[in-house]
Amino acid sequence: MASRIPHYIDGARVDGRADARTSAVYNPATGQQTGVLPVATAAEVDRAVAAANRAAPDWAATPPLRRARILNRFLRILEDRIDELAHVITAEHGKVFSDAKGEIQRGMEVVEFATGAPQLLKGEVTENVGTRVDSHSLRQPLGVVAGITPFNFPAMVPMWMFPVALACGNPFILKPSERDPSAALLIADWLAEAGLPKGVFNVVHGDKETVDALLHHPDIAAISFVGSTPIARYIYETAAHTGKRCQALGGAKNHMIVMPDADLDQAVDALMGAAYGSAGERCMAISVAVPVGEKTAEALIERLVPKINALRVGPGTDPEAEMGPLVTRQHLDKVRSYIDAGVAEGAKLVVDGRGFRMQGYEDGYFIGGTLFDHVTTDMKIYREEIFGPVLSVARAPDYATAAQMINAHEFGNGTAIFTRDGDAAREFAHAIKVGMVGINVPIPVPMAFHSFGGWKASIFGDHHMHGPEGVRFYTRLKTITSRWPTGIRAGAEFVMPTMG
Ligand code: NAD
Repeated sequence: MASRIPHYIDGARVDGRADARTSAVYNPATGQQTGVLPVATAAEVDRAVAAANRAAPDWAATPPLRRARILNRFLRILEDRIDELAHVITAEHGKVFSDAKGEIQRGMEVVEFATGAPQLLKGEVTENVGTRVDSHSLRQPLGVVAGITPFNFPAMVPMWMFPVALACGNPFILKPSERDPSAALLIADWLAEAGLPKGVFNVVHGDKETVDALLHHPDIAAISFVGSTPIARYIYETAAHTGKRCQALGGAKNHMIVMPDADLDQAVDALMGAAYGSAGERCMAISVAVPVGEKTAEALIERLVPKINALRVGPGTDPEAEMGPLVTRQHLDKVRSYIDAGVAEGAKLVVDGRGFRMQGYEDGYFIGGTLFDHVTTDMKIYREEIFGPVLSVARAPDYATAAQMINAHEFGNGTAIFTRDGDAAREFAHAIKVGMVGINVPIPVPMAFHSFGGWKASIFGDHHMHGPEGVRFYTRLKTITSRWPTGIRAGAEFVMPTMG
């Protein structure tokens, strides 16, 4: 029986309206519907915002050290119950259990970072900017902020946002993906158990209707978004119109250059994990391999093919499985149609995952690993994000051509180079127009104390997420200049004040 998924408002799970429009949640391994998600209307969003607004003054006034202690308790709960949360993710997203645990782990690192709130929020002081005049700068919370997140990391991406937002003193409203919404509810329960006051963290479920209500709500100060590029652009433009601070991270097409001098076995192992891990549903997945030189290309393909054929595809609950199903039937159809398009455009289909069937899980959304060779930059499968286990090999005659391909691409999220040549690696790191760069590291996701974000159409807005950029995004700067009476009287001054 599919259960009805509640919202989380003002410290409690609350049912959506009985007459709400609904959307279905599925188990991707079985194709069975497991949940009914009521879409929050503008009135329900308003209830969540009102609760957050009521909680805002006290939360902002709570000393950072006390906020950090709550986040510390939350961290311990996550450590103790990571398996429970990972099971919920596997059941709705489909990714293998070990991968679900991996994403929680990466999210927990942001919580760890945010427990440094007292240190992170320290301001700056200059004594004597003028004679007996001092200046100090401090960062204050924005007020109620909201996060809108994608399906592919139902725990980690919200955790890029809310630990830092909360640490900085802002109440948070999360609108998780309607495809895998349940992880957000466990997180809300556990934050409350850790001592977070009611109203400081809320969850509203839904789709465009709910997102629009958040975007247009006058009491929301900032929006963090992660998802596809067309929606990221829409969120950013709408937030600009409604006067909200906004960071909107979009889609990706990540290339990995394989130089002729690379350790090829290492590069192939890296490509396998980066292209097929999480069924390619990662914004940092490598979807284009660019071998430099024909010899490198031939050797790469020769090594990749047997490994792709040996990929263990299965339900996320199977401990032996390396790759689970895709998230929904529609997404499976979309990925298959990209493979059809690649064939029609003349790319060479070396391994075809379309025929894959999972015994005992015939209604699941499974597809096998797929490999294209001789992909060219004008093809749809090269230009667009597929977001599935489909790797394109686009051969380049030399390094300059390979780098130029990356720089010319619409997206600029992540990229990697595999080489033993320090010169080439340094040039790549310096000149490539991409936000996150790996040198012999296929998925260079920055650690929590650095910041995550791409360039070009992979981001709209100025701030990357978590790390120092996250703290800046969720606070605003105030600078105070003070002079204490000392008996010195300069008289009225009508020129622009100068110090000294
Ligand atoms: P999506 O854009 O379809 O959905 C993201 C969020 O936006 C969801 O909460 C959804 O409910 C909401 N949404 C969907 N349509 C909307 C509309 N018309 N108006 C307003 N809101 C809407 O993305 P997805 O399919 O859930 O996630 C996959 C995408 O996310 C991929 O493009 C992937 O590259 C991207 N992604 C990017 C990063 C990054 O850091 N750059 C990280 C993870 C995922």
